[in-house]
Amino acid sequence: MKILDGKQIAGEIRAELRARAEAFESKYGKKAGLAVLLIGDDPASAIYVRNKTRDCEEAGIRSFSYTLPADATQEEAEALIDELAADENVHGILVQLPLPAHLREDRLLAHIPYEKDVDGFSAYNIGSLALGSPAAVACTPKGVMRLLARYGISVSGKRAVVIGRSKIVGRPMAMLLLNADATVTVCHSKTKGLAEICREADILVAAVGKANFVTAEMVKEGAVVIDVGINRVDGKLCGDVDLASVKEKASFLTPVPGGIGPMTVAMLLENTLEAAERQMS
Ligand code: NAD
Repeated sequence: MKILDGKQIAGEIRAELRARAEAFESKYGKKAGLAVLLIGDDPASAIYVRNKTRDCEEAGIRSFSYTLPADATQEEAEALIDELAADENVHGILVQLPLPAHLREDRLLAHIPYEKDVDGFSAYNIGSLALGSPAAVACTPKGVMRLLARYGISVSGKRAVVIGRSKIVGRPMAMLLLNADATVTVCHSKTKGLAEICREADILVAAVGKANFVTAEMVKEGAVVIDVGINRVDGKLCGDVDLASVKEKASFLTPVPGGIGPMTVAMLLENTLEAAERQMS
């Protein structure tokens, strides 16, 4: 079994992006800019936002951090996004999820113009992906595809099974695999006969959010297993895959931490630069 080292590959991509960000700045006389909006005081979200800000700065991307209180109204949040949408120094807008329960996520995200939607969550970007000609693609599944490509793992003609159908991971993951000519099955909480379906997979992607969910009996001998899950067990990070048993069967496996997480960050930086380049050209 070989480890797909997302941390190392993400480091290489980030070095490439730094050079691209410098080229952008010297061509246009300003940096590519990403605005990150945090609403409320969820401590995990605050850490994610801080990390994104730091990662942008390191990559030569200007970051704009905005925080609204947990009781911000829908109108206040939408007005701020409208302001950022009109700001020529802001090329990407990211709203940290989840939102406080009283806010309508769909209505809020609809205020982000699709060309500044670096998360790829807008109806236009998801529609483009579904039509097979994606513009901005959700960072996590994009990171999975990039990691496979960097390791020379072909997707075309393979049986791929994705566990999870969220708009952040599962759905766009399935569409990307389909666009790359895999034969794709999407499983979810109502799927019957999950283990049997998973055993058919040449490429198995777990995006469930449950520790040790994928066990050896769900994995075909020689399968490529991508662990997207992030779970905390006894204060330690782990994925959705039961590493101890699955490592005996998989040909390739992504670790948690150090697999898809760092790839996701790298893809956010790439999406921001791509958005900036598109807006300036
Ligand atoms: P989600 O809760 O929105 O979706 C989970 C999916 O799992 C759902 O579609 C659900 O139907 C499915 N599911 C739940 N129980 C199931 C079962 N018993 N059998 C089959 N399917 C089942 O979560 P999400 O946002 O898609 O994230 C999934 C995991 O990936 C989480 O652990 C999250 O933290 C992690 N994640 C990691 C990154 C990263 O950068 N590595 C990015 C996003 C999400």
